[in-house]
Amino acid sequence: MTSEENYLAELLPLYYKRLFPSRQIYQWLSNDDTFSRREISFTLIGDIYIRFLSFNSHEEFVNELHKKFPLKIDIGAVYITKPKDRTPLGVLTPVSKELVFDIDMTDYDDIRTCCSGADVCYKCWKFMAIASKILEASLREDFGFKHILWIFSGRRGIHCWVCDVQAQNFNDNIRSAVAEYLQIVRGGVNTTKKVQLPTNIHPSVMRALSIIDHYFVEAIIKEQDILGTEDRLNNFLAIIDEIIRGYFADNMKKFHTSEERWNSFESTFGNLQQKNQVPRNLRNLKEEIKLHYSYPRLDINVTKGLNHLLKAPFCVHPNTGKICVPFNIKSVDHFDPSIVPDLRMLINEINEYDQKTKDQEQTLISNNDHDIATNKVRIKDFKKTSLLKPVMLFTEFLRSLEKNSKRKRDEDIDESMF
Ligand code: ZN
Repeated sequence: MTSEENYLAELLPLYYKRLFPSRQIYQWLSNDDTFSRREISFTLIGDIYIRFLSFNSHEEFVNELHKKFPLKIDIGAVYITKPKDRTPLGVLTPVSKELVFDIDMTDYDDIRTCCSGADVCYKCWKFMAIASKILEASLREDFGFKHILWIFSGRRGIHCWVCDVQAQNFNDNIRSAVAEYLQIVRGGVNTTKKVQLPTNIHPSVMRALSIIDHYFVEAIIKEQDILGTEDRLNNFLAIIDEIIRGYFADNMKKFHTSEERWNSFESTFGNLQQKNQVPRNLRNLKEEIKLHYSYPRLDINVTKGLNHLLKAPFCVHPNTGKICVPFNIKSVDHFDPSIVPDLRMLINEINEYDQKTKDQEQTLISNNDHDIATNKVRIKDFKKTSLLKPVMLFTEFLRSLEKNSKRKRDEDIDESMF
C-alpha cells in the first residue's frame, strides 16, 4: 500500500461510520422503491472494482459499506431485475436513471492558462461557474426540469444530476438528443475552430452568450490572459478563417496586453462589418470565439448512456481526500474548490469538537452540575464538522424532490379516480 492508501485505509472506516450520509443517499435513490434494483459499484483500495452490486434496504447498504469501506462509490441505472441477482448468461436491462452531465477541467487545458491537469484554482473555477449557469438555464427553461443537483467532484470537475421523473425515464436516444443539443464546442485538441454557428443563432445559444458576457472580459480576457503572449495570440488567430485573419493579426500585434488585443479585435471586426467585408459564413465570428473560450465542454458520452455510472455524492476523492460535495448554483461564483473539506480535516474537526465537549462536561461535573452534564443531547457527528453545510444542502434538495414526487403520486391517484 502507498502512504496515501494507508491513510485512507485508516480514515475511511471512521468516515463511513460517523459521517457519510447513507440515509440521505438511500432516500435519494429510493424514489418509487427502486433502490433494490439500482446498480451500485464499489472501488476498493488496491484498485479493486466491483460492479453490479445492489441492496434490498438501507440496512443492507450500510452493512456492506461498513464491511468494505469503498474508496469510491459509483451509481448506475435502475434495472428491470436486481443487478446482484444477474446470471452469467442473463441480460440486464436498464430502465431508468437520472440524466447526468460531467464537465472535467482537463477539457479546458487548451484555453486555461492558470493551471493544467488535475489542478484547479479560483480563476479556472470560473469556467465551471459559467458552465453550470448555462446548463442550469437550459435544463430549466428549454426542458422544464426542476430538480437539478450540482456536485463538485472532489478534484477538477463538476457533475450535474437531473432528478425529475421525466428525465429519469429518458431512453438512450432521448439522452443522446439532449446531449447533442447542448454540445456546441466540438472536436478535440486537433480541431482549431471548435464552434460553428448557423447564420441565425438559436435563442438558447443567445442566452448562453448573455451569461458568458458577464464574465468574458474580466475572467477570460484579463484573468486567463488568453491573448497575453505571442503563442496565445497565435492560437486565437488560428481560429479565424484565413480569408480575413490578416486584418486582425496586423492590428492586434500592435498591442501587448490581452485586453488591448481583444479591443483591437472588436474594433477591426466592427470596421469590417461596416464595410461589408465579412463573408456570410463568418458573421458570427465574435460569438463563436466567445463560445470557444467559455461554453461548457461536456463529456457527452456520460450523458448519452443510460447504463453509464457516475461517482456518488459524498464519496472521498482518492487523490485529494476531498469530499465530493453538492454546491448551490445560486452561489457558484463564491464556491472555492480549495477549501472543500477533506477526510483528514473532518476527522480532526470531530476530535476537536469531542475534546472540547469532554472538557466542558468535566467542568460541569467538577462544579456539581451533574444534571446538565448527563442531560446533554448527543449531537450527530456531521454537525460537528464542515460537512454540515453540504449535507444540509443535499437534505434540502431531497425535501423538495420528495414533496414534488408525493404531489405527483397524489395527482396520479386523483386521476385514477375518474
Ligand atoms: Zn486555475
